Amino acid sequence: MASVVAQVMKASLGRLGPGMKTGCSGGRWSASSTFKPLQSVRFYAGAVANADYTFRQLLDYKTWTYTYILGDNDSKEAVIIDPVLEMVPRDVNLCTQLGFKLVYALNTHMHADHITGSGPIGKLTGTCKSVISKHTPAKSSVYVDEGDIVKFGRFQLECRSTPGHTDGCMTFVWHEKGMAFTGDAIFVRGCGRTDFQQGSPKKLYESCHEKILTLPDHFLLYPGHDYAGHMVTTVGEEKKFNPRLTKSLEEFTTIMNNLNLGMPKYIDVAIPGNLVDGLIDEQKKASASK
Ligand code: FE
Repeated sequence: MASVVAQVMKASLGRLGPGMKTGCSGGRWSASSTFKPLQSVRFYAGAVANADYTFRQLLDYKTWTYTYILGDNDSKEAVIIDPVLEMVPRDVNLCTQLGFKLVYALNTHMHADHITGSGPIGKLTGTCKSVISKHTPAKSSVYVDEGDIVKFGRFQLECRSTPGHTDGCMTFVWHEKGMAFTGDAIFVRGCGRTDFQQGSPKKLYESCHEKILTLPDHFLLYPGHDYAGHMVTTVGEEKKFNPRLTKSLEEFTTIMNNLNLGMPKYIDVAIPGNLVDGLIDEQKKASASK
């Protein structure tokens, strides 16, 4: 066992660049210039900041929603995916601290379990435009459709229409970095529900198999939620282990039609709030002045 641990530690240290410290002192191993640094270091956790880009995965612990910030470290332009209204101060503050200018706040779909923060982020920053699929009734600054490109700095995201959870679901693919942000289409070993907001098991099955699982096996898939503590998966993993999507369409449909889930806790405030891009105070003021 000791030699296995030592081998793992040695392999890990080999991934460190010159001058980087391990945080371990007094152990048997220490960083040494004899280890070859990798050309680029890829992390599977919630943050990357040592490359030409910044990546942050953030959690709203009330609704188990993931928000993502992707930034171009040179131009300092960034996008935020699926911001949550209550977490807007955290997200805007983080971008300010890191020196990023938010240019787009993308919604993977019109959510039923929380209110989006995209509109309020636009108001706060003055630079950030809301983005959502044109196949939703939600208010937005920009509407996107299949094949559209969202740019930030020198990077770009491809919009793939992935209906099924709702008609207006989008998956955003960052080809250059091998990442896709799947919203509520594919979850880690699961998928979004299909029993309201134009949900359709057939559409979801086809979207997942034709638009997401056709990406290269090594692509990282970042979901809109996770309820079991997972943060990320890969195309290859879900093709092998997803307990729903590895089934036939008929079996998948039976599973999805028999989930018997309760309605989301905040649906009564989430849908009206998302119809106005999260700008609920403005909506109240407009209603009051009528
Ligand atoms: Fe959803």
